[in-house]
Amino acid sequence: MSNPNQPRVRFAPSPTGFLHVGGARTALFNWLYARSQGGVFVLRIEDTDQERSTEESYAAILRGMEWLGLDWDEGPGVGGDFGPYLQSERLDIYREHLEQLAAGGHVYKCFCSAGDLEAREKAVRDAGCNWEGYDGHCRDLTEAQTTELEGQGKPFAWRLKTPTEGTTFWYDIIVDKREFQNEVLVDRVVFKADGFPTYQFAVVVDDHTMGITHVLRGDDHVSNTPFQLLIYQALGWKPPKFGHMPMILGQDKKRLSKRHGATSVEEFQNLGILPAAMLNYLALLGWSPGGSGDEVMTAEAIIKKFSLKKVNSSPAAFDYDKLNHINSEHIKRLSADERLDLAKPIIAERGWVLDPEWLIHEVDTTDAYLARVLGTLGNRFSSLITLPEQIGFFFTDDHFVDQESWDEHVATDEARPLMIALADAIEADLDTAAPQEAGAFEEVIRSTAEKLGVKAGQIIHPCRVALSGQSRSAGIFEVMELMGAPRTVRRLRAAAAS
Ligand code: GLU
Repeated sequence: MSNPNQPRVRFAPSPTGFLHVGGARTALFNWLYARSQGGVFVLRIEDTDQERSTEESYAAILRGMEWLGLDWDEGPGVGGDFGPYLQSERLDIYREHLEQLAAGGHVYKCFCSAGDLEAREKAVRDAGCNWEGYDGHCRDLTEAQTTELEGQGKPFAWRLKTPTEGTTFWYDIIVDKREFQNEVLVDRVVFKADGFPTYQFAVVVDDHTMGITHVLRGDDHVSNTPFQLLIYQALGWKPPKFGHMPMILGQDKKRLSKRHGATSVEEFQNLGILPAAMLNYLALLGWSPGGSGDEVMTAEAIIKKFSLKKVNSSPAAFDYDKLNHINSEHIKRLSADERLDLAKPIIAERGWVLDPEWLIHEVDTTDAYLARVLGTLGNRFSSLITLPEQIGFFFTDDHFVDQESWDEHVATDEARPLMIALADAIEADLDTAAPQEAGAFEEVIRSTAEKLGVKAGQIIHPCRVALSGQSRSAGIFEVMELMGAPRTVRRLRAAAAS
C-alpha cells in the first residue's frame, strides 16, 4: 500500500542530448530527496518532441544515471503502477484530458500557421513592440468562424485560455514566493496540430496522474510554472509543490557550457572521475552539509544529511579543480581491492601484463603484481588519468619519462659511473636469476656508496629516474624488488649509455 505522506518525485529528461551536469544535479537532488524521506523516485522520459528526441540520447541518459548510481523506483526498465513512463506512449491519456479542458471551455482552437505567426511577430517587432509568443489572434473566434476554418481543413492547435487579470503565484521550496501577473501570461499551445501535446500540458497531466508531490527542477523552468499552474487550475487539480534550483555557472559566472570544459556526465567518466566523486561534487553544487563537516562524502552520508532547506537559492559555480580534489579524496579512501578493480581495466586497455622476467614469486599473476605496484603508490594514487604515467614503468620499457628530470639526474657525467657501478655490484652480489627482496637491493646500494665514497642518496636519485622515468616514485628498494634484478640492471646500463 502506498503511504499518502510518502513524497513522490521525478526526473523528467527530454532525450534530446547527453546527460549534462545540470540535468544530473536535478536528477540527484530528486533522488536524494526521495531516498532521505523514504519516498519514491520516478524516471519519466519526456519525448513528445518527436523531431528532437533520439534513441541515443535516451540510452545515454539512462547510462549516465546508472553510472552515477541514481536508481529509479518507477520508470523505464522497472515499470510501476503509474506507467507508461515514456510520454510518447501516453498519448491517449493526454487526449482524454484535453477533452476535459475543452469541455470546460478552458482551451480554444488556434488556426494560425507558423508562417502566420512569424509574419505577425515581424510586424509587431517592426512597430517597436515586444512579441511575447502569441497575440490572442484566435482566442475570440466565433463558433461559426471556427467551424468554417475547420471545414476548410485548416490544421489547428489547442491553446489555453489564460486569465487576463489577477496573479498566479506559488511558494517555491527553494526561492520562496514567486508571483506572475496573469496579463503577461501568453495563451500557450497545449496540444499541437500534429496530435502531440506540448511539454507544458504533458508535464502537468503526468505529474498529476503519477501522483508527484514535489517538482524539483532547474530554474530555467520558472517561467513555465505559472502557465502549468493555470492548467492544474483548469483541470481542477491540486498542484504539487515546486522547487526551482539555481543555474550552474562557470567560474566566469556565465552559464556553464562547453566553453568551460566537460559538461556531460559521460565526459567526466572518460576523464577518470569516479561516480561516487561526481555524485558528491554535484550534491555540493547548491547544497552543503552545514557546520564544519567534511565535504567528501559517500552517497549514504549525503542521504543522511540531505535537506531541501539547505539548498542554496543563488547560482552555483562549477569548479573543475574542486571536482578533481574530491575525486582524489574518494580514490584515497578506497580499499586495496577497490583500487585494484579500478586499475585493472586501465592496465588491460594498454595490454600491460606481468613480464615473466619481473616475476618475483612463482605464483604471481598480473593482478597480484598490479596490487603490489598499487601498494607502492599509497596515497599518490589520486587520479585514474595519471595512473598509467605513474606505474607504466613497472610494465613496459616504453614508459613515460619526465625529460627534465632525466636530463638533470641521469644524463650527467656524475650519474653515469654511479649507475654502472651499481649495476655491476648487483650482478656481483646478488643471484639475479632469483627473486630479490628490497632489503638486498638496499644493502648493495649502501655498500656501493661506501666503496665509492659517496652518499647513498647520490646513487639513489639517478637510479630512481633511470628506472621509473620520474623523480617521484615509490621507495627505490621496493621498486627494484618489484622490477627484479635483471630488468633493474638492464635499465641502469641503458640509462648510463644515454
Ligand atoms: N523535460 C524537461 C526538460 O528536460 C523537464 C521538465 C520538468 O522538469 O518539468 O527540461
